[in-house]
Amino acid sequence: MTSRMTPLLEHNEQFARTFTPVPLGLPAAQVIVVACLDHRVDPAITLGLKLGVAPVLRNAGGRVTQPVIEEIAYLAFLGRRLSGQQFTDDMRVEVAVIHHTQCGTGFLADPGFRREASEVTGVDEAALEASAVADPRATVSADVERLLTSPLLPPRMSVSGHVYDVETGRVTTVLEARHPQPAGNN
Ligand SMILES: [Zn+2]
Repeated sequence: MTSRMTPLLEHNEQFARTFTPVPLGLPAAQVIVVACLDHRVDPAITLGLKLGVAPVLRNAGGRVTQPVIEEIAYLAFLGRRLSGQQFTDDMRVEVAVIHHTQCGTGFLADPGFRREASEVTGVDEAALEASAVADPRATVSADVERLLTSPLLPPRMSVSGHVYDVETGRVTTVLEARHPQPAGNN
């Protein structure tokens, strides 16, 4: 029986022939990317991420949800363990949140579409609304803020916000990398 996976597995066969394993360690770019799962915006291709360069967390819209924040907290913990707690200033990691134009989640900003999507899929309407990216500059700014104000974000991490334009292939920085404000220091 043939599978849709057959051509992809053939590709993998080629890939494995010249493969060089990458040991577990800190990501070479010291960047964690949060991006949409849309097949037109794969950061491995748009940012040239080779194996071992940067972890990528992807969901609908590239939204900073609670599960995404928890993944980042775990990656930070793992990074500390792998580096033997020997963190130096040049080992600081930046989280880059990237939203994009023409996102398929944009339809979810429309209440009628959202209600129908909720009825058909069984997914909670509020969850669908939370994933909507109609204005990527606005949502990426909100998500950078959400991550910066999360108590789970390690203070050594910085967060930046970007928008990928699916018509030009260009990534534009909307918010430069910032560290979270230390607690009680306003
Ligand atoms: Zn998208």
